[in-house]
Amino acid sequence: MSKKLVFLTGATGTMGMESLKKFMENQDKFTLRVLARPSEANKAKLAPYQDKIEIIWGDLNEPEALHEGVKGADYVLHVGAILSPICDGKPELAMYTNYGSTLYMLDSIRKLGQTETTHFVYIGTLAETGDRRAPIHWGRVGDPLKPSVYDYYAISKCCAERAVIESGLKYWVSIRQSGMLPSSTVGRYYPIISHNPFNNPWEWSTAKDSGNLMCNVCKDEVPEEFWGKCYNLSSGASFRSTTYSHNLFLGSDQRETYEPKWVALGNFHGQFYLDADKLEEMVPFRCQSYAEVRDEALKGYMAMAKAAAAKDPNYKPMTKAETKALNKEVCSKEDGVLQFVRDWDEERIKVWFDSVEKYKALPEDWKDYPLYVPCAAPTKLDHGFDESKPVSELGYEDLKQAAEFRGGKLLSTEMTTGDMKTKKKFRCAFGHEFEATPNLVFFTGHWCPDCMCDDWNYGAQAQVNPFFNQVWEPLHKGEDPYSVKMECDGRKVEEKLGLKP
Ligand SMILES: [Zn+2]
Repeated sequence: MSKKLVFLTGATGTMGMESLKKFMENQDKFTLRVLARPSEANKAKLAPYQDKIEIIWGDLNEPEALHEGVKGADYVLHVGAILSPICDGKPELAMYTNYGSTLYMLDSIRKLGQTETTHFVYIGTLAETGDRRAPIHWGRVGDPLKPSVYDYYAISKCCAERAVIESGLKYWVSIRQSGMLPSSTVGRYYPIISHNPFNNPWEWSTAKDSGNLMCNVCKDEVPEEFWGKCYNLSSGASFRSTTYSHNLFLGSDQRETYEPKWVALGNFHGQFYLDADKLEEMVPFRCQSYAEVRDEALKGYMAMAKAAAAKDPNYKPMTKAETKALNKEVCSKEDGVLQFVRDWDEERIKVWFDSVEKYKALPEDWKDYPLYVPCAAPTKLDHGFDESKPVSELGYEDLKQAAEFRGGKLLSTEMTTGDMKTKKKFRCAFGHEFEATPNLVFFTGHWCPDCMCDDWNYGAQAQVNPFFNQVWEPLHKGEDPYSVKMECDGRKVEEKLGLKP
């Protein structure tokens, strides 16, 4: 049997490298082709593999490189992206790189006549569903999308995911990556650390699990019904924690290195999944326990400290007071919570603390600050149609009902029952008209593409869209419905690249 050709983007990132290693264990089955930027660091990383893989030196903004990449590929694993916090403050870079690269590849697959053969695996993100702190911390695919305000990374990933879902490709999936362990050490120095609430719910995934998954989705055993869907990726129920409890698990009590008002209350991302086991059932990939990952992380710290001590005989690990001083410095940088407060930027204080009043009411003292692990009893959001029906029985009335629950209207006058792939016309509550497949409306949480790219007016959307209201009202009841201008949206990318999804 001939080997399958796999094209991997983002090969030198954390998830990409773990994937690459897995493919190296399966060279009898796969030929691996990767895309990597020709930096010195990347060349060094890929040097040990250069005789075993095909390397395209280029980046996600180069259509020719992407075209070469997908040519003849049985599988495209689109792992590469510009991530937060790198793209925070660079909305255009995020939009063009993350959304643009996806549009380019889908376009190339069509031009090459590979729409029936190439399996496109898109890596989405939990940032697409945004802030799901308690009491709405239980979530599943199909819940409304709600990228956090100012999170251009999340918007870019939503636009790209929509393009994949609506691509018409025979084989596609979107795998929404969760917070990944071990955490990046780079992120430590970015003001985004002040955006991650102490009580934020997480259900982590590990880099090794993600690498396993990428290799396993390309294997013959994958069932046909795996394709054409979105999935949440996590390493399992035992990986549930909050930011605070996770740090404690790693041996660090945030109360010793932060003050309560240095970190946001919301507008981040994270949830406990009701459905993450689905992916494990279809394509088994989990191989580590939470404790093993912690032990690995601690070993990593010790090795780093040892290396530092070998370099500098006077090296001492940071004391708690020094760590706290560093945290304060990072939280005070541009785009950090302490900067918003220092400059009294009311718009941003509202976004990250719900309201100015809530910010002011936060205690100075940890003993008055409610740290908690959210309720363990799962709750489900309403998706606005009869979910007990098999997909083959979902028809016109169901779609009409789903559209109305989203505050809109189904404009098409007919639909073949069970046909999830033929696009229908809709109008949202704000009068935008758009086309979407029933699959997208029923099962993915996407709705109006214009609302996704217009300003962040979630309060206004919640008032007219009962579906969306479920993820807004429980956290923002009684607040002024603010609106924040979006500086770069996906429509600009489509226009500039001349590529429509
Ligand atoms: Zn709209």
